[in-house]
This record gives sequence, C-alpha cells and structure tokens, in this order.
Amino acid sequence: MGRSIILPEGKSKNVAFPVVVSGPSGVGKTCLCRGVLADCDDVAYSVSATTRNRRDNEVNGRDYHFVEPDRFRAMAQAGELLEWAEVHGDLYGTPRHSVLPFLAQGKLVIMDLDVQGGLSMRKVFPGGVFVFVVPPSFEILEERLRTRRTESEDALETRLRNAREEMKFRKHYDYMVVNDDLDDALSRLKSIIAAEKCSMQRLFPCDGEGVA
Ligand code: 5GP
Repeated sequence: MGRSIILPEGKSKNVAFPVVVSGPSGVGKTCLCRGVLADCDDVAYSVSATTRNRRDNEVNGRDYHFVEPDRFRAMAQAGELLEWAEVHGDLYGTPRHSVLPFLAQGKLVIMDLDVQGGLSMRKVFPGGVFVFVVPPSFEILEERLRTRRTESEDALETRLRNAREEMKFRKHYDYMVVNDDLDDALSRLKSIIAAEKCSMQRLFPCDGEGVA
C-alpha cells in the first residue's frame, strides 16, 4: 500500500517520490537502503541492472538484475533504463520498471546510485530527495572495504581512488548523512524521509499560486 494522506476535506492524496542514496563504495549505502525498507512498508527498492559479477551473498532479481554487457546495451538502446553509467569498470543502470510502477502506486522508491546516476536522476526527477552518505574518515572507509572482502586488491584500490573523486559531488545533493554508526545513520536517513513526506510543497504544490 502506498502512503495516502487524508485531507481535512475528506479527499486523500498520495505522496510518492524517489530517494536517491549515493556515496563512496563501502560507505554502507546498501545497508542503509535495506534498513529503510525493513522499517517502512511504503518504500520500494529500485533493483538496478548491472554487468558486474554476482557476489556470493547476492540474489539475482533482489540485489541486482545481473546481465551480460550485450543485454545491458540493448536495454539502454531500447530506452528501458532511466539512467546508466560505467562505475568502477562495470555498467550499472536503473530500469524504468524498477521505479515507475511503484511511484504510480504512491510508493516511495529508494535507489542506491553512484554520483553520475545521482546527477542524471536529478534531471529525471527534479522533485526527488538526494542524500549523500559519507564515511567518518577515509581510513575507516578503507578498513570497511577491506573487512567486507568482496573485491580483489586491484578492484579495492580502484574503489578507494574513486571515493575521493566521488566526495567532490556531495554539493549536488540535498542532505548529507555521516555513517559513523549504522543505527544512528539509519535513523537520520529515516528522519529525512519522514520530514520530506510532510513537506507542504509536496502535499500542496499549487498552494501559494496567485496568493499575494
Ligand atoms: P556495487 O558494485 O558495490 O554494488 O556498486 C558499485 C556502485 O554502483 C555503487 O556506487 C552503487 O551506488 C552504484 N550503482 C548501483 N546501481 C546503480 C545504477 O543503477 N546506476 C548507477 N549510476 N549506479 C549504480
């Protein structure tokens, strides 16, 4: 069920918007998105398509749609992706069907995108909420990436190098969440979403027009 606000005059109104979460690899975006999903039944997760190899703990269709590069390019060419980008040497993109049906049902859609995807999505959804997640320090980021052991040494070095570049994009986002402690960061992210659901601009976008 999408979130529906009952207005005093007895009408109801759906408040649906995308929430884009970006930040360097290893900062905890996936955990934060999963945390929001576990606690908010009016939020859907946008499952991206990628050409990257599946990790052992990942499920095709739940974490990503894992596809061959040819299939990915065909999807992009056919206009099936709202945005796509090359990230750390692999292709990642947001299928239209991972987002639009949920918004139409009045659901919020949370998506984990790199900074290029964030910039592209801002053009697709100017009214979206854009959140940038940062680590407490680069040392902690490196430690987290090494502990999760999902990358080869080369891939890890690429991700760490890219992290410094990605940090420069934070100015394009609406909110910053420091992931020092996962529970605290999750509670801040949920507070941002809760506040945005109450936004007068979202609830009554036409209010104020023609009013002195
Ligand atoms: P990972 O390989 O660690 O799952 O993701 C690598 C990067 O790709 C992360 O920064 C993640 O946010 C980004 N990413 C995941 N899905 C998409 C997508 O659909 N589009 C874009 N542009 N980036 C994505």
